[in-house]
Amino acid sequence: MMDFDFDLFVIGGGSGGVRAARVAAAEAGAKVGLAEEYRMGGTCVIRGCVPKKLMVFASGYADAFEDARAYGWDVTAGGFDWLGFRGKLHAELDRLENIYRTNLDKAGVQIFDTRAVVADPHTVRLASGETFTAKHILVATGGAPFVPDMPGADQVITSNDVFQFDALPKSILIVGGGFIACEFACILNGLGVEVTQYYRGAQILRGFDDEARGHVAELMIEKGVNLHVGTDVIDMKAADGGTWVKSTDGKERVYDKVLYATGRNPNTAGLGLEEAGVKLGRKGEVMVDDYSQTSVPSIYAVGDVTDRINLTPVAIREGAAFVETVFKGNPTKPDHELVASAVFTQPELGTVGLTEEAAAEQEPIDVYCSSFRAMQSLFAGRDDRVLMKLIVSKASGKVLGCHIVADHAGELIQLAGVALKMGATKEDFDRTVAVHPTMSEELVTMKTPIRSA
Ligand code: NDP
Repeated sequence: MMDFDFDLFVIGGGSGGVRAARVAAAEAGAKVGLAEEYRMGGTCVIRGCVPKKLMVFASGYADAFEDARAYGWDVTAGGFDWLGFRGKLHAELDRLENIYRTNLDKAGVQIFDTRAVVADPHTVRLASGETFTAKHILVATGGAPFVPDMPGADQVITSNDVFQFDALPKSILIVGGGFIACEFACILNGLGVEVTQYYRGAQILRGFDDEARGHVAELMIEKGVNLHVGTDVIDMKAADGGTWVKSTDGKERVYDKVLYATGRNPNTAGLGLEEAGVKLGRKGEVMVDDYSQTSVPSIYAVGDVTDRINLTPVAIREGAAFVETVFKGNPTKPDHELVASAVFTQPELGTVGLTEEAAAEQEPIDVYCSSFRAMQSLFAGRDDRVLMKLIVSKASGKVLGCHIVADHAGELIQLAGVALKMGATKEDFDRTVAVHPTMSEELVTMKTPIRSA
């Protein structure tokens, strides 16, 4: 039998790679090496979910000060100290990165702070030129922002750059209508930046429930985002004071910054995967089977690099399932069914299960939906409305989808996700006594479908 330097070599120290490395070493006693070329923690910790969410919190205070006044508090919002906040933000990221590193150390994983590529099905080559053999290689290199090739593309920034701003821009154009574009539009708007957003299609957040998308879009506009749908950039170049942009609606204007949030591509360029026989898809994603195994039996891949469901908790589950399968003799498929998620716009959109549109294609459904002004914001004189929506199978009574647009919808949808995962029916929701007074009691008190399809 051939001796390998490692039982497992992981390329990429993000959510999926770190989980797999740590569990394989700590729980399965594997000899594990992990290479990371940038910072431990990956997109989620260093330039994604975590700093983004802290910015969501920071930007939410603008409304909170106004509301506090409506509730009788004598407060005046001073200016926002971006540099003060940025310093604390980066200190927090350093702290988290250290925790990741320490946990890998404690588990006995050997860390290489450098780039690694695949040299053959059982060998990795580090940037230093060193090579190591491994019985299994796990590719967990994540993704990176994609910017379309167009005039002026060198002018644009991506979400990665926002966390490094030396000062907040006065004005920004955000291009895209997905998670990242909408979240940053709300964050920067809340922090006092004048935000214009262009989306090429008819409505933002394609793939989410239509009614929920419309609701989020309306509230974003009410809160001050200059959202233009059916609009795209046709020309762009550097100009005095920023970037000059010409758009499909004939408008021309200079923005301080132009941010493209037009999707993310898997990080596979130059990794040596195809040369080693690993099949890649059209976007460069690593093609894997249900167990995250690639077309080369000794090479597996998890997380965004596989472009399945590009969310941190999914990558973590994929990493854990890989270890169960390969190191614990317990073949386990990561579960991609009924994954709840949230878009951290203001207000948030929480979603689990099927949209009304997808469910109606599948089978006859009843739709329960309620849109109302929540007590807290109503009292503060706000016009914001909350949306609660359930999609129910006519045949089985099962709740097929739940969509919430409200403050804290991310927190609420987590619990709705448990119910849906258990196969809850509308009757189960109905026999659950309401918690009063809350917004979410509406989820258990909607008596009559607003329509059927
Ligand atoms: P998305 O795929 O969600 O959105 C990309 C957007 O860019 C779409 O609106 C798309 O339009 C538009 N677009 C694509 N190409 C072009 C182009 N050439 N010109 C103009 N517009 C274009 O990607 P994001 O970058 O927003 O996010 C990537 C992924 O990261 C998400 O899908 C999600 O999985 C994950 N994520 C999750 C978060 C969370 O859980 N809260 C937060 C942030 C990211 P169209 O719809 O027409 O294709």
